[in-house]
Amino acid sequence: MIEDEAKTARAILNSLKGEGFAPVWVETGEDGFFVLSSQHFDAVVLDWMLPGRSGLEVLQTVRAKDAKTPVLLLTARDALEDRIAGLDSGADDYLVKPFALAELGARLRALLRRATADFSVEEKPTRWRRGPGDRPNFAPGNPSRKSN
Ligand code: CA
Repeated sequence: MIEDEAKTARAILNSLKGEGFAPVWVETGEDGFFVLSSQHFDAVVLDWMLPGRSGLEVLQTVRAKDAKTPVLLLTARDALEDRIAGLDSGADDYLVKPFALAELGARLRALLRRATADFSVEEKPTRWRRGPGDRPNFAPGNPSRKSN
């Protein structure tokens, strides 16, 4: 997580830890860029308004090297052009401040599920029809669910 406001950052850290995440916090765009360049993270929570290098600049630099790590952009800006700029720069999702911490956790989990699904789809093509009894019920066009 890259966030310069300590109070916000601590609230987010506590919430994410409570939800089973292991967040790492840095306060500036420079530190964020350095940490992201040297370590792997499952997802990035990135504040837009940072001193020095902005969240958007960090995002563009990160995306130039790594197209896959999910990035959730935190922004106080809710103008349409700003949301579009954030998504165009490579953010996977965004939250407009102030937001509910529970929503941040839920959106992060959604991003992680999506990232995991992208990677595992070729390895586990039959994952969704694990149970033998499920197959007839979920087969397309099978009438057994409608009739009893
Ligand atoms: Ca900020």
